[in-house]
Amino acid sequence: MPEALHPVVQENKVELVDRAAEKGIAVVITDGHRSVSEQDMLYEQGRSEEGSIVTYAEGGESYHNYGLAIDFAIETKDGRVVWDMNYDGNNNGTSDWMEVVEVAEDLGFTWGGDWKNFKDYPHLQMDFGLTIRELQYGKRPEVEDYAK
Ligand SMILES: [Zn+2]
Repeated sequence: MPEALHPVVQENKVELVDRAAEKGIAVVITDGHRSVSEQDMLYEQGRSEEGSIVTYAEGGESYHNYGLAIDFAIETKDGRVVWDMNYDGNNNGTSDWMEVVEVAEDLGFTWGGDWKNFKDYPHLQMDFGLTIRELQYGKRPEVEDYAK
């Protein structure tokens, strides 16, 4: 299993934070690569453990486990980290959250807020055309295919 973010995802993560900053939005990356055991622990939240359900993916079933996903939040002007999709800190009439999503999609990420069933609004992933099943069988994205 990969033990870090895929280099292309890592590069785009930095690019996302930079481009958002140019728009006056402070993006906080709250999660990136996750080990299988970390994923299993997260899966128990809202099930055998307290809290609300945050994932439907068990260990090995999340793009985070393959270093292909990140989660984000926004830091407000007064230094709070928020998951407020209506916050418009740069006062341009568009929610900062959706501005970040738009930049992310330009960079090639897909957004968890577009998922049909469980919507995961902080979640961004790059699947490189690979399904979780293919990743579970050991297929991995080729870095060279995505070199700029
Ligand atoms: Zn996520």
